[in-house]
Amino acid sequence: MTPVRTRIAPSPTGDPHVGTAYIALFNLCFARQHQGQFILRIEDTDQVRSTRESEEQILQALKWVGLQWDEGPDVGGPHAPYRQSERSEIYRQHAQELVEKGHAFHCFCSAERLDTLRAEQTAAKLALGYDGHCIQLANVEVQQRLAAGEPSVIRMKVPREGICEVPDMLRGAIEIPWEQVDMQVLMKADGLPTYHLANVVDDHLMQISHVIRGEEWISSAPKHILLYRYFGWQAPVFCHMPLLRNPDKSKLSKRKNPTSINYYERMGFLPEALLNYLGRMGWSMPDEREKFTLAEMIAHFDLNRVSLGGPTFDVEKLSWLNSVWLRELPVADLVGAFQRWIGSDYLHKVASQIQPRIHTLSDAVGWAGFFFSGAVPVTPESFQHKKLTVDEIRRILQVSLWELEALRRWNHEEISALLGRISEALGYKLRDFMFPFFVAIAGSPSSTPVMESMNILGPDITRARLRQAIAVLGGVSKQESKEWEKAWRERNAAGGVVDTPEGAA
Ligand code: GLU
Repeated sequence: MTPVRTRIAPSPTGDPHVGTAYIALFNLCFARQHQGQFILRIEDTDQVRSTRESEEQILQALKWVGLQWDEGPDVGGPHAPYRQSERSEIYRQHAQELVEKGHAFHCFCSAERLDTLRAEQTAAKLALGYDGHCIQLANVEVQQRLAAGEPSVIRMKVPREGICEVPDMLRGAIEIPWEQVDMQVLMKADGLPTYHLANVVDDHLMQISHVIRGEEWISSAPKHILLYRYFGWQAPVFCHMPLLRNPDKSKLSKRKNPTSINYYERMGFLPEALLNYLGRMGWSMPDEREKFTLAEMIAHFDLNRVSLGGPTFDVEKLSWLNSVWLRELPVADLVGAFQRWIGSDYLHKVASQIQPRIHTLSDAVGWAGFFFSGAVPVTPESFQHKKLTVDEIRRILQVSLWELEALRRWNHEEISALLGRISEALGYKLRDFMFPFFVAIAGSPSSTPVMESMNILGPDITRARLRQAIAVLGGVSKQESKEWEKAWRERNAAGGVVDTPEGAA
């Protein structure tokens, strides 16, 4: 029997997501249950969106919840490197092999041609996808154009007829017609691979036996299966896990629920409780008990018992489970949990903020309380201002919330540049514009510098507090949201401020 090897393959393009920990947990349990290995691989083929900072945060957050991998970029292993950006040559050779075997082809189509094609397909209500234009090119012509330095990508050939069967451990055979599968780009014009090629090559070379991942990857599976076939490799066993959902059953998203592991850490959830809760997403212990440790989960694990009805990630339930964990801790351990939670790094940051303001150490509680609490107690009266009306404040907060949701890098410079731009675009003096932020974030207009507070508190707590403030001020109706978004987009189009995320409300 081939040894069981599973992996989590996060793309370092944002905050560490609870969904990553959830999938990692199930991969780990499955591997441990079979005395196999669990690997962490960084999929940073998207050079524009990937950052080292995000990679570090993901690793740190997964370690914080208590997950450990046997091989990875930080611990090394026999299949190193475990970061795809360091494996370009491997992908280049494999793409070349597919071209030589006739399973892939160079495509010279320009962005304009592809845009026109897409527009025509959209107008004719046809499935979108590459039309195979460059498959026919004679080899001599291809060689000439390559030699002339004409930019090109490598695409995989995909059958146009018939059905691809994706065998799935939980779902049986999933049937996807080949005509719905695009002739995927495998190598981009810059010589770097796309996710699909790198993922398949690495899963094979790293001897991954079971690919346990979120169901959003089902539609990619035919491309992957085809690649395994083209290379003449045995495909791993696929298992597509149900996606985590908001309580309203929509896909878990940071617009509705905090999704960053950092948020749950900052809010004071115990890592054991968060992991325990993630273990209850679509799965339960044979005796249905709610509280269990990772070791207990591994001992009783059975992947086939995962239920496909979308598991709801409900912060209220998590909070209840956390309270059970806290209550059952010996007091000495609770003290330890407090100390770890406050953490010397965080305390350092907070102390640097309050230092200029305190007369005695006991003043710290008043100045720093909001750094340690979940929500801050605010009422509509807290937002009374001599120049700003409630409607203006709601709009300032809502527009800023949209923009902050789209902000890629969370640091003082970015936050301050962004809020400065919004303030100017909406025509306020920065001082007035910032007033509602002081109240929403720190609970009071006289507090430590608020942009740095937002930086320290992190994106999810900041967004949660802005959302809470908007709710306290009466919320934003669908109609208002539409109007504001439209006006904001138009203003941006003229002034060049970043895009408002779609469907934000
Ligand atoms: N890099 C992909 C992600 O970010 C991995 C998907 C997979 O597991 O194949 O989720």
